[in-house]
Amino acid sequence: MGSANQASDRQPGPRWESLLTELPGVGPERSDQLARLDLRTVGDLLQHRPRRHEDRRRIAPIARIELGESAAVRGRISALGVKRFRHGRKSLFEIILEDGTGRLHLRWWNAAYRKDQFAAGEELLVYGRLIDLRPRTMDHPETERIEPEPGESVHLSRIVPVYPLTEGITQRWLRTLVWRTLEDGRLVIPEPWPSGLLPGRLSRAEALHQLHFPAELADAGRARERLALDELIDLQCRLLERRRRLEIRARAIPCAGDNRWIKPWLARLGFRLTQAQTRVLREIRADLAGPCPMRRLLQGDVGSGKTVVAAAAALMTIESGRDAALMAPTEILAEQHAATFERWFAPLGIRVELRTASHKPAPPDPAPAPPELPHLLPPRDAPEARMVVGTHALIESSFAPPSLGLVIIDEQHRFGVAQRETLVRKGHYPHLLVMTATPIPRTLGLTLYGDLDLSTIDELPAGRGRVRTFVRSADRLPRVWAFVRDQLQKGRQVYIVYPLIDESECLDLKAVTREWDSLRQTLDPFRVGLLHGRLPPLEKERTLDAFRRRELHALLSTPVIEVGLDIPNATVMLVENAERFGLAQLHQLRGRIGRGADDAFCILISASRTPEARRRLEVLAQTTDGFRIAAADLELRGPGQLLGQRQSGLPAFRFADLARDLPLIEMARQIARQILDNPTIGPDEPPSP
Ligand code: ADP
Ligand code: MG
Repeated sequence: MGSANQASDRQPGPRWESLLTELPGVGPERSDQLARLDLRTVGDLLQHRPRRHEDRRRIAPIARIELGESAAVRGRISALGVKRFRHGRKSLFEIILEDGTGRLHLRWWNAAYRKDQFAAGEELLVYGRLIDLRPRTMDHPETERIEPEPGESVHLSRIVPVYPLTEGITQRWLRTLVWRTLEDGRLVIPEPWPSGLLPGRLSRAEALHQLHFPAELADAGRARERLALDELIDLQCRLLERRRRLEIRARAIPCAGDNRWIKPWLARLGFRLTQAQTRVLREIRADLAGPCPMRRLLQGDVGSGKTVVAAAAALMTIESGRDAALMAPTEILAEQHAATFERWFAPLGIRVELRTASHKPAPPDPAPAPPELPHLLPPRDAPEARMVVGTHALIESSFAPPSLGLVIIDEQHRFGVAQRETLVRKGHYPHLLVMTATPIPRTLGLTLYGDLDLSTIDELPAGRGRVRTFVRSADRLPRVWAFVRDQLQKGRQVYIVYPLIDESECLDLKAVTREWDSLRQTLDPFRVGLLHGRLPPLEKERTLDAFRRRELHALLSTPVIEVGLDIPNATVMLVENAERFGLAQLHQLRGRIGRGADDAFCILISASRTPEARRRLEVLAQTTDGFRIAAADLELRGPGQLLGQRQSGLPAFRFADLARDLPLIEMARQIARQILDNPTIGPDEPPSP
């Protein structure tokens, strides 16, 4: 096979999976270049998504382009040259293009090397924006030489694709390669799903043709939707499959409890659960009593009281004689949770154990546990059931509780899917509750957590003070400090957050230490503590304890306080260089205040003068609705940023857009269900000759 001498009409053509080197004109050098664009197979090539399209059916006469308009122009080079300024340190390369209606100046700054790429008399296609009328000028336009060769119709008089490129590859070469591959009648483009499943949609082969060479621009949009749908169906199938495998394989441990400890605990809690908390607990209890291990995502805005729900779920489990484990993303948060659970559970005689990198597990109870396997004991004879709170240390292999009934993951968005899986594999199919305060837009929820059931706490506890948010520029700082002092005078406490991009950089640490020095002077005689991720754990704890006990009045901190901290007397949150944070992260930071009955103030200091940065921050001043904020963040910065760098579970899509494609995602989920419900459905057989 593959001999170039075979009779060409009997020769098998390229297949979807063929390596690109099998295409004529692609040798080792080209294939290396294409690999840099992640294009290795014919399928990759045909799914290389154009950056945009250019409508070359409408070539504008140079004389008619209006100022500020973007247009495609076709003309001949009448002159070209390089001007130098500032003793040769700056250069301007200029081409004059003529098309019979007028002259157009094309300019490139500091790109003298381009001079060798053009010659007078050549014909060019140019796409750019007209920035001047006298003379008519475009800066840094895209250009393409028109070759006097057959096949020119691929590039002219139609809507053409403009691709992301890499060095050594030109638009027209790549366009020609895609065109020839698409037009090769021997190539069979596989349809992933039977056509009956996608009524009214383009076939995949049609979609790929229109993705690259649409008849109208709207066709390219429809093509993208069809290809996005393929990606989304594929993902939803995998998510649903994972869920169904669990349902078939795993038998749930009964963990619904008998109310023995929950009742007295609720009675002494000091507040009543909100209706939303009660509803969510009912959902959780049904899962814990059900036949299949719980896989549930609990979302609730900052301050909505997720910890109480987690504690109640843990108590049900412990009543049933099983252990419960809670994993938090930072030591600070794990310590706070351990302290809270200790306060709540110690009176019930339940042991709470803290497990982090710096906290070794507590020594075993003086009364040794019976040697039998605890999970074989009837619930009431299992007094050793306990609550374990920790950080990533829980994922390590040394943590292997034999009777783990429930795993809770707080601030799930800080962990990857892999970590969640590692923890759930401990014990014997424990129940799983993951909690997140980053309100996840539905698109992301269905994509990332599509294998989980969803509970939402959509109500804040009553009696909370109001949180007001202000955006201020740095030159207003003196007045801001006066306001802060005033609040300190009233006995309130203050968080001051200083952005650090990477805490491992000592430069940044120096900056925050300097800031601390000046802050202590500014706020003297009030006492200011310093908190950052590089402090030894013991010192962190000491500082936080001092702040909790009100021995420190203000806390200068890096964003390590972002998640979970709960100190109701702290009512002012001042964020420096706020424009460096994402909206969702700022919303988290703001969630540290407004936890008591007093009014609270969030002040966002923006060092940036651009109106966009300011407008972005104003979103926070206008709403405290975490869902709206997350949706805005998703649109502005994309899912990776919204979820934080650590989120590893996010699939890389070529065509799907998580900010916009909710209808497609929902459709994909339905179709995936049909596919899994009907195992005889497979891809259509390729048509046989
Ligand atoms: P988050 O959902 O952000 O994790 P927490 O669980 O930290 O919120 O709760 C925030 C604060 O609200 C805590 O001090 C908690 O004790 C308190 N809280 C929780 N539920 C209620 C309630 N139903 N009524 C009053 N206060 C509550
Ligand atoms: Mg929390």
